[in-house]
Amino acid sequence: MATANDLISDSPSLDNQDGATLAHRDLRDDEFWREIPAFKDVSKEEFLDFKWQMKNSLYGERKLMELMDGLAPQEFIDDAREGFKKAPMAVRVTPYLLSLIDWDDPLHDPIRTQFIPVASRLTADHPMLTLDSLHEQADAPVQGLTHRYPDKALFLPLDTCPVYCRFCTRSYAIGTDTDTVEKVKLRVNPKRWEEAYEYIENTPRLEDIVISGGDTYNLAFKHIENIGMRLLEIPNIRRIRFATKGLAVMPMKVLSDEKWLDGLTRVVERGRELHKQVVIHTHFNNPNEITEISRQALNRLFERGILVRNQTVLQRGVNDDPQTMALLVKRLGEINVHPYYVYQHDMVQGVEDLRTSVQTNMDIEKYVRGVTAGFNTPTFVVDAPGGGGKRGVHSCEHYDRETGISVYTAPSVKPGQKFMYFDPLHSLSEEVRKAWHDEDARQSMIDDALAKAG
Ligand SMILES: *Cc1c(COP(=O)(O)O)cnc(C)c1O
Ligand code: SF4
Repeated sequence: MATANDLISDSPSLDNQDGATLAHRDLRDDEFWREIPAFKDVSKEEFLDFKWQMKNSLYGERKLMELMDGLAPQEFIDDAREGFKKAPMAVRVTPYLLSLIDWDDPLHDPIRTQFIPVASRLTADHPMLTLDSLHEQADAPVQGLTHRYPDKALFLPLDTCPVYCRFCTRSYAIGTDTDTVEKVKLRVNPKRWEEAYEYIENTPRLEDIVISGGDTYNLAFKHIENIGMRLLEIPNIRRIRFATKGLAVMPMKVLSDEKWLDGLTRVVERGRELHKQVVIHTHFNNPNEITEISRQALNRLFERGILVRNQTVLQRGVNDDPQTMALLVKRLGEINVHPYYVYQHDMVQGVEDLRTSVQTNMDIEKYVRGVTAGFNTPTFVVDAPGGGGKRGVHSCEHYDRETGISVYTAPSVKPGQKFMYFDPLHSLSEEVRKAWHDEDARQSMIDDALAKAG
């Protein structure tokens, strides 16, 4: 029988693990942007100025092409040119992120993968996939307010972001129209917002508002204050969260846009006076996005007592292996960001290459649980297509690994209903892939899964 001592001596010694276990503390602190020819003369002071970052954010295909010329392999450039034509999202990336891409091998780089589409990786959409798969618009009582859960709602005051992510769930609205998608418009418009506030006031069970979009980074500090103070005034509102990907893509704003940070801080402080929570939700996906600049930005927020939580989207080639996800989770802890959720990639048009199977999500969850404090361990969820809301990935009623169908229920959200998620075709066998393209076979796979789910 093994004794406790045997078990200890069988496991690798802690000393030997230090290289791997301490990698999260090792944040990039060099002038990494100078490796990009276009940024080689940019001083640290300039690079840390959010105005410079915004002015030089590459908006659109032409500017990105110019930047890549002579930097990326020609084969990659041609691949990206074709990719742009087919993408549902317009392209927009910050110099900060572009400088963190490994341009010797952009095809396999996790940051490139999230922002720059390439034709060679595109695969056909799953036949069960629709635009706005989460039914955000169907669950919207007024335009730009999605109310699905009893006590919380999602408020979308605007439809722009400092970057455009290829995988955006809201590709139905976010960003400018592309060759393949004409968007729903959710412009900055205090009049439209007033309708949302009235609905919230007249719905006393609502306690919690997520202000998303779009992105809080793109709201002027006055608008942040207006929205924040207005919501805090509503007696039934106890918690508000400002969502921004900004911290991950342009940490400089927190370091140099004093007005914006002060505006946000005033809302947080007013909330504190009223004993109401005001926090930031952000969106880091890969450990390479976290540098010493991120640490400085997050330190500033921490000093002001502003809590930051993180939501990650599980993506193939970005964070779909256990070690990368564990490093991300530890690195978030290192900069005082609380890892809140890891989402199964939604069924979004045109980005099948980024989705993983539910099995991959389950495997990563199993590995990550235990690498750090329980309160810093994210919950791994599937946001059930059709409006079932977020479900713990392991809680499925049934999962057929062969057909890739998982079935979830949501007793407190939509009692009695069943929700299905479909693994991407590239994770299935050749034979099953063919079956998905046959209407009768498709229906029988679905019927079978629903029957087995009980
Ligand atoms: C995710 C989401 C929320 C917030 O859910 P939490 O689990 O509390 O983070 C609220 N409304 C909608 C529609 C959502 O998608
Ligand atoms: S920042 Fe968020 S809302 Fe904006 S494009 Fe990216 S995923 Fe979509």
